[in-house]
Amino acid sequence: MAHLRTYRSTGLIAQSSGAAIAALKARAAAWDVPLTETHEELTMSVWGCELRLVPHVDGMSVDLSAPEERLIGNLRDSATEIFAEVGLDIAWDRVDAGALAPGLSLMRVLRVTRPSPGFVRVRIAAPDAARFTEGSMHFRLLLPPKGREPVWPRVQPTGRVGWPEGPDSLHRAVYTVADHGPGWLDFDIFRHDRSPTCDWVNGDPTGQTVAIIGPGGGGIPTAARVHLFGDQTALPAIRRILSEAPGQVTATIRCASADLGDTASDPRVAVSDDLTAALSTTAIAPTEFVWFAASADEARAARKHLQSRGHDKKDMTVAAYWS
Ligand SMILES: Cc1cc2nc3c(=O)[nH]c(=O)nc-3n(C[C@H](O)[C@H](O)[C@H](O)COP(=O)(O)OP(=O)(O)OC[C@H]3O[C@@H](n4cnc5c(N)ncnc54)[C@H](O)[C@@H]3O)c2cc1C
Repeated sequence: MAHLRTYRSTGLIAQSSGAAIAALKARAAAWDVPLTETHEELTMSVWGCELRLVPHVDGMSVDLSAPEERLIGNLRDSATEIFAEVGLDIAWDRVDAGALAPGLSLMRVLRVTRPSPGFVRVRIAAPDAARFTEGSMHFRLLLPPKGREPVWPRVQPTGRVGWPEGPDSLHRAVYTVADHGPGWLDFDIFRHDRSPTCDWVNGDPTGQTVAIIGPGGGGIPTAARVHLFGDQTALPAIRRILSEAPGQVTATIRCASADLGDTASDPRVAVSDDLTAALSTTAIAPTEFVWFAASADEARAARKHLQSRGHDKKDMTVAAYWS
């Protein structure tokens, strides 16, 4: 059996403090992630990683473990922030001060194409592109303000990530890997008004360097039966799920037919202008998985509807893709 590598890091808080315990409990509740408590330690599980707070006589240790080095960096950033909020500093065993933010990759824009009237497709490349093709499907595209040299987020000596602010603050929209090959990724941008990302792509960024950070934000559902509901922004994710999910999948999409392309003739796909109504009229057994991604208002309505049906939280992903 293959053994997955585990990465670790430890920090020390110089005083034992009830405030640290309360802060970790509050964060686990806010993030809605599991927390286990024993006499010896408090453990928060998040992103497939663990953050353990272990009280000693003269202080506390903060032990991090994760399946990837970049997730150790993310956890260190979060832990530093969680405890700094209650006035506690952590002395970490190591901090990559000055390094690019964990999970950030600089990518070169190879080309921009127009696969359908409503979408622009961008191909980006970097030697580590493949790490965005496993697990989660999504990433954040980091765009500097128009006309300014990019200032990328970097690790600070405390372990926190320092994000540029004010005139250098980055636009950070989330996109989905639509396709990939050796050393490159494609993502599809839905064209809409007042969009900084569309403004950027309309200026033909071919040859530019951009940063993406991730991956994150959900993978391919693996349930035996999956019901998908989504709008245009979810179309790239829905296509991936239709082609990669192991179970039986059907999808209801709100999207212009010209943008659906081949997906329009997939017998598993239906088109609807009203995703909330489609969700409420679809027969869904209690153990079947529901995946819903559209505007924040629609996501709220979908969550409310599924809760009123008594659908278990573990059998659904309901996401606001935009607001
Ligand atoms: C997990 C995840 C995956 C996503 N994958 C994709 C993807 O692959 N392709 C894609 O195109 N989008 C995707 N999105 C949605 C995308 O991140 C948002 O639409 C985001 O707002 C785009 O940023 P922007 O620069 O265009 O606009 P923002 O600066 O965020 O918003 C500018 C204005 O545009 C409006 N706006 C934003 N989105 C829409 C919309 N869809 N229709 C109409 N008005 C809108 C906002 O209300 C605001 O007024 C995804 C979102 C998530 C959370």
